[in-house]
Amino acid sequence: MNEEYLKHMDRLIQQRPGSAAALRSYGELARLMARDEPAHEPKIPKQNHLKTRRKEGFPLFVGEDLPVDFDAAAALLNRFFAHLSRTDREDREGLIQARERGENDPLWTGGVFKAILKRDLKALAVMAGQVRLDPQGLLFLGKTALRPSFSALRRLTEEMINEKAWEQGYCPLCGFQPDMACFTKAGKRRLHCELCGTCWTFARIGCPFCNNRDPESLGFFEAQGEEGLRVYVCKICRRYVKTVDSRVFEKVAPLELESLATLHLDLIAEQNGYE
Ligand SMILES: [Zn+2]
Ligand SMILES: [Zn+2]
Repeated sequence: MNEEYLKHMDRLIQQRPGSAAALRSYGELARLMARDEPAHEPKIPKQNHLKTRRKEGFPLFVGEDLPVDFDAAAALLNRFFAHLSRTDREDREGLIQARERGENDPLWTGGVFKAILKRDLKALAVMAGQVRLDPQGLLFLGKTALRPSFSALRRLTEEMINEKAWEQGYCPLCGFQPDMACFTKAGKRRLHCELCGTCWTFARIGCPFCNNRDPESLGFFEAQGEEGLRVYVCKICRRYVKTVDSRVFEKVAPLELESLATLHLDLIAEQNGYE
């Protein structure tokens, strides 16, 4: 974690004090993560094969095919459990159990990652129940533990990802969906992948989830007094994407931080019946 990243975090904590707790605990994980880098270099298949996939509109990898360094991710996840179980968080008991399970049962940890990559939330909920953790909490920690591997993978595939616009609403690298978006200073819309953190350019008007382009059934709302932060919604599929506008803010943080700093918008979206 470099100086710049820390500055973004401090600035967001000041600008949006409601998000301070979420940002601070993520900051602790990011520190543990920084000690861990670099993750082992991922082994990726021949470029030609990947280029064909991309041309045909498929992401470079899907689910369990993702060349992730599972050992490094498991070690990091166990470190998260160990660190967080020493704090006074409400879910401390569950974290202690998760730490014990993770250290003694590598199959359990491997199962957590597999469930995340296969989007098998039911399996993940079962594993979370085994250690009395909230499934959403385990999902967040598992995804975060995969980040160093994904950063390494992004560096290796950057050229292929950026060579021309990708017109799909799912991630060109891993096929997951966006959890955040931003408008660049030039007015382009960039989507941020909820799993691997890849960003890609997407149409300004349109729903990335169901591809609806009809302005009548698309809309947005914003929280009071928060110009530049919007929730774009689709009335057809009832999904939403939070968006930060670089033309309004002097600086925009890496989007995983912006996402943590806008949890209140998720609440508003859910209260309005979007998911
Ligand atoms: Zn992705
Ligand atoms: Zn939609």
